[in-house]
Amino acid sequence: MLNIILFGPPGAGKGTQSAKLIEKYNLIHLSTGDVFRYNIKNETDLGVLARSYIDKGELVPDEVTNDMVKDFIIRNVNEQGFIFDGYPRTIAQGEALDRMLTEHNTTVTMMVALEVDEDELVKRLIERGKTSGRADDQNEDTIRNRFKVYQEETAPVAVFYSDQEKYRGVHGMGSVDEIFERLTHAIDSRSEE
Ligand code: ADP
Repeated sequence: MLNIILFGPPGAGKGTQSAKLIEKYNLIHLSTGDVFRYNIKNETDLGVLARSYIDKGELVPDEVTNDMVKDFIIRNVNEQGFIFDGYPRTIAQGEALDRMLTEHNTTVTMMVALEVDEDELVKRLIERGKTSGRADDQNEDTIRNRFKVYQEETAPVAVFYSDQEKYRGVHGMGSVDEIFERLTHAIDSRSEE
C-alpha cells in the first residue's frame, strides 16, 4: 500500500491537494476534519462531542479520533492506500496509526508537509470562512487557538516522522498546480527508492 500523511497547518491546502492526489494515485482519502463535520451535520453522538472541541479550536480527544480512524482503516484496508489529511495531529495519534497499520501488515510510506507562513494562512482561513460556512474559520480567537494547538501538539508529529526518515517538506505557496507538482515529485522520488 502507498500510505501518505499529508501534513501542514490549518489552511495549508491539504484538502485541495488531497482531492488531486487521490485521483492520481488511486488512494482513499481520510480527512478527520471532514468526518467530524459530517457527524456534526447529521447530529450524531460523535458529532455533538466533536463540536464542543472544534468550535473552540481545540483538538478532539485522541481516543475518540483514533477509534474513528481505526474503523475507517478496517473498512478500506483492501484498497491501494490512504491519504491521511489532518491526522495524526498528536504524537499519541502517530503512535496509534503506526500500530493500526502494522496490524494490517502495512506502514506509513511517507509524510509530505505543506510549508506555508502563518500570515498567509490567517488570510486564507478568513477568506475561506466567508464562503465555507465553517464556524471555526469565522472567529479570530478560534483561528488563533488552532495555530497555538498546531505549534504545541501537532508540529512535533513532523519530528516523529523525520526521525523515521519519512518526512519531506514541500513549499506550499504558489498555484494549486505548482504545489501539486512539488508533492507528486516528492512522492514519486520516494517510492522509487
Ligand atoms: P484545519 O486543518 O483547517 O484546521 P480540519 O478540517 O483538518 O481543518 O480540522 C478541523 C477541526 O477538527 C480541528 O481544529 C480539530 O478541532 C478537529 N480535528 C480534525 N482532525 C483532528 C485530529 N486528528 N485530532 C483531533 N482533532 C481533530
